Amino acid sequence: MNVLVITAHPDDMEIACAGTLLKCKERGDKVVVCHLSSGNQGHEVIMPDELSVMRENECQKSAAIAGFDIIWGGFDDLEIYDGNRESRDKVVDIIKKVDPDFIITHDPNDYMPDHTAVSRLVFDACFTATLPHYKTNVEGKARLVPIYYMDSLAGVNFNPTEYVDVTDYIDTKLKMLNCHESQVVWMRDHDGIDFPDMVKTCSRYRGFQCGAQYAEGFRQCDVYLKLTTKRLLP
Ligand SMILES: [Zn+2]
Repeated sequence: MNVLVITAHPDDMEIACAGTLLKCKERGDKVVVCHLSSGNQGHEVIMPDELSVMRENECQKSAAIAGFDIIWGGFDDLEIYDGNRESRDKVVDIIKKVDPDFIITHDPNDYMPDHTAVSRLVFDACFTATLPHYKTNVEGKARLVPIYYMDSLAGVNFNPTEYVDVTDYIDTKLKMLNCHESQVVWMRDHDGIDFPDMVKTCSRYRGFQCGAQYAEGFRQCDVYLKLTTKRLLP
């Protein structure tokens, strides 16, 4: 299967769904991760231009561990807005290029504007990408496929409807997360937390809910034509 993950920032995938994607990879799926934003505002000291280069390197280091393909969306932090055609069509083209079997993205009620904007853009673009006569830069069309919303930060206001046991992948997930060295510092300075500890604890918490040691939770986007009888998550 083709799995497409569309997130805001370069470390969002590791936080919420790296274990699931590693499991996808192991069953033979192709995993493509798109970070729409450069992550250039995520530091108290390092300036945006320098930080975006650092974050690209951190992201590639993490992706190399997992064998995921990375696409950069070309936005900067806090410059992603939904509700405009230009942004939506950028996401349409990414979806057309990958033509995924399912898409994972942020929950529409997550905690910060880049995350919520990406979620809504993906919802809008996912349908638009299936229209054969809607012209964008990329030719052709994608299939209309399910969207899975990944966990919110620290699981706030998020009730999973599907769980993935990631016990065998938790060490690799944390190794990938730790590639984002600048963000371990940022999360300490800005949020006052130990980042790897938070991610591990949240995976353990989801594990308690489904009888696994560690798990990741998802909620399917339940609208017309996006539901399925199949279990697509691993
Ligand atoms: Zn983020």
